[in-house]
Amino acid sequence: MNPPAGRDVFAKIYEPKLKTGMQKVVVDEVKALKSAIDKGLLLRPIYLEQVPWDIKRFIRPTQWGYSSDVVKATSVEVGIDVNIEQPILAQFTEDYIGIYSKRYISSHLGQLNSMDNMEDVKERLDQWLETTATKRSRDESVRQNQAVFQCAVFSVGYSTTWRLRGKSSCPYCRSLAGKRIWKGGEFIPKMGEIIPTDPDKPPMKVYVALHHCPAHLGCDCFLSAP
Ligand SMILES: [Zn+2]
Repeated sequence: MNPPAGRDVFAKIYEPKLKTGMQKVVVDEVKALKSAIDKGLLLRPIYLEQVPWDIKRFIRPTQWGYSSDVVKATSVEVGIDVNIEQPILAQFTEDYIGIYSKRYISSHLGQLNSMDNMEDVKERLDQWLETTATKRSRDESVRQNQAVFQCAVFSVGYSTTWRLRGKSSCPYCRSLAGKRIWKGGEFIPKMGEIIPTDPDKPPMKVYVALHHCPAHLGCDCFLSAP
């Protein structure tokens, strides 16, 4: 199975766009957090207003563009006629963006809540400035691509199959390769485990049901239909 050339082109185009937006969010976020720390204010309110708003204005338009282009590429790849204007795809994209925002906020708030030393917090904030946008844009360029593809093919009744890009895939992804699911299905259920093909490696816990790639940070697997 060849990698999806059309969708891969869009992944390459959108990854830097996502990164630019994500960097703007994290720069604003860190600035607000440092200012709140200096003034002795609570940090949580920053995640109730500013961060969700920044995600909306700096990342959401790119996420919409990406969805729309992935849908176009999917139509060509699978030979089906789907359009982002279809309510099911538009709603999916909006929900996806909402989940991204929640995921981002709970990750950052969780990290801050786990630290009680302000020096550690400041060090972590500087790390975020360095790494967050690069890491997340890479991950999201895979995740959104596969998620939207799957929604589009499910909308016409097709199934999706987990595919590897090459022989260097990890033993966790190798164990998923070739698995096929239909709408309503999942590759690994919530709180389930990925059992690696290498018996020396421990199982990988899955906290949220795994419906599509990536299986982990750095996973470059893709879905095909069927
Ligand atoms: Zn993978």
